Amino acid sequence: MMIPPGSTIGILGGGLLGRMTALAAAALGYKSHIYCPDSNGPAKQVTALSTTAAYEDRGALARFADAVDVVTFEFENVPAETAEFLAERKPVRPSPTVLRISQDRLREKDFLRSVDVATTEYREVTGPASLARAVRDLGLPAVLKSVRYGYDGKGQVRIGGDRDIEACWQEMDAPIGILEGFVDFAYEISVIVARGGPGALATYAPAENQHQNHILDTTIVPARVTPEVTMRAEAIARHIAERLDLIGLIAVEMFVKPDDHVLVNELAPRPHNSGHWTLDGAITSQFEQLVRAICGLPLGSPERHSDAVMKNLIGSDVEKWREALIEPNAKLHLYGKEKALPGRKMGHVTRPTPHR
Ligand code: AMP
Repeated sequence: MMIPPGSTIGILGGGLLGRMTALAAAALGYKSHIYCPDSNGPAKQVTALSTTAAYEDRGALARFADAVDVVTFEFENVPAETAEFLAERKPVRPSPTVLRISQDRLREKDFLRSVDVATTEYREVTGPASLARAVRDLGLPAVLKSVRYGYDGKGQVRIGGDRDIEACWQEMDAPIGILEGFVDFAYEISVIVARGGPGALATYAPAENQHQNHILDTTIVPARVTPEVTMRAEAIARHIAERLDLIGLIAVEMFVKPDDHVLVNELAPRPHNSGHWTLDGAITSQFEQLVRAICGLPLGSPERHSDAVMKNLIGSDVEKWREALIEPNAKLHLYGKEKALPGRKMGHVTRPTPHR
């Protein structure tokens, strides 16, 4: 079913990804209605329609469903029950099933294995004793992660040979975890793919991601990997989108090992920080592509007209906005967040190099 321009897109979450999605939606003549518990998220600043309520507030959710034509989400920790409640009333894209898989690291890895996608070795851990067993199985070094609510390195503990198992378990601070073998990767890359329906896919070139303090710092496009790795990484992302029966957009984060083996680390069924370059370097941005996919419009070209380097402005980096504006070829994006707290993503700068 096509949802034509003029309709209203409901977005769960009020952050910077919702903001950029709403701006792309506006460019195509759509209205956006932001639903989130904070009254002043970056997304609410750019839309006329919004709801400020808890994700568990059934009355507010029902009114939201009545007011919109399609629902999407801009972060994956929206309760799956919220998405399921809304899906009884309006199309929710990507589906609540995709949300459920991607918000739980164990379910996500089990899914990937079930569709023959290579991941790190992993074990479920439920306490210090099962962690000790998992460490014996997988060896060290390893990474212990909380199964839920981890992002930007939160809930993650690296376990080397000298760490006390009990202390690592305490440090993770979650009731259930996943132990992963540590991957000594050559590159971290991500591939973003949009899918409007069977066979309707648009795949962006792999982006190379460099992190600092577990937070994405710089994305380089195209990733400096071989054509063979590029082809395989894109094929993996498309395969995942098909097997999830995705309607929307997904970012597939991967490790490339020194021998060019590709392992999938994580899925994010929404626009992704490593795709911000598409605003200034691709014919269709990831945000416009999401709008097209969930509204049943034809997908746009994901082709790159420029290579690009995207740098996040984190915390006090935001003060560099003047310097960025002085550079004629730098594209500055600010998210309207008030306080530049450490670790907070305040904006980004993309430096495109046009193809001649
Ligand atoms: P994640 O939250 O899973 O995306 O992890 C955040 C970052 O930690 C990744 O981008 C990697 O840089 C690093 N990391 C996560 N898992 C592993 C692993 N199994 N081996 C090596 N590095 C990892």
